[in-house]
Amino acid sequence: MGRTMRTPIIAGNWKLNKTVSEAVALTSELKELVEGTDGVEIVVAPTFTALHAVSNSIKDSNVLLAAQDVYWEDSGAYTGEVSAPMLKDVGCDYVIIGHSERRQYFGETNETVNQKVKTALSHNLKPIVCVGEQLEERESGQTESIIKDHITGGTSGLTADALLSCVIAYEPVWAIGTGKTATPEQAQEVHQFIRNLLRDNFSDEVASQVRIQYGGSVKPENAAELMAQPDVDGALVGGASLQAESFAQIVKNTI
Ligand code: PEP
Repeated sequence: MGRTMRTPIIAGNWKLNKTVSEAVALTSELKELVEGTDGVEIVVAPTFTALHAVSNSIKDSNVLLAAQDVYWEDSGAYTGEVSAPMLKDVGCDYVIIGHSERRQYFGETNETVNQKVKTALSHNLKPIVCVGEQLEERESGQTESIIKDHITGGTSGLTADALLSCVIAYEPVWAIGTGKTATPEQAQEVHQFIRNLLRDNFSDEVASQVRIQYGGSVKPENAAELMAQPDVDGALVGGASLQAESFAQIVKNTI
């Protein structure tokens, strides 16, 4: 099964940016720019505080909503957390899980990623599971073992069917927010490695259907070349998703 069976997915991770009114303004502009664009899934991930307003703003558009994180309990005494039923209620289709910033600053581990992935799936939220090596790990030849740990740990215990609802985002940490993009060949090499792992851990059929996004300084100028790689099925975009023009251009350069 080739790439044509996988609809590319471009997701904008807004991180800790945009007030509610700024988020709505960005969304309104984006909706217009991508109106009628099909053959690609378009997703935005605002902060928790802007989810409701952005959800209302994208009704009847081709833009889908993601959260940037989720907790694994549905409710209770967990001050500061937001649950999967709450994200579903506000209109999220996707949730980013295990972003490297959460691993680096907020103690996210492969185990917590796995708990969150399972919880999201049980509430019909599609996880965007982030994996990726740091610069020292790449330089010391550990890229494949780190990716293997992230993938195997994050997807442990899932059925093949459940994996089909997941998107994997390969984000080399050294390329995030640094302006330093992986070359298309570097990205393809790891994407192929991930697909082979999924083949070993699940099945050939599932591995060929799961979408694997690339993330790390994706811009309109480098998107087409990255997306042209056979195992690259879209992008997770940080900085360039904060302006409607550049995000829409990445979307357009994907198809
Ligand atoms: C990200 O944080 O997911 C990301 C890829 O950021 P940037 O595009 O800014 O490198």
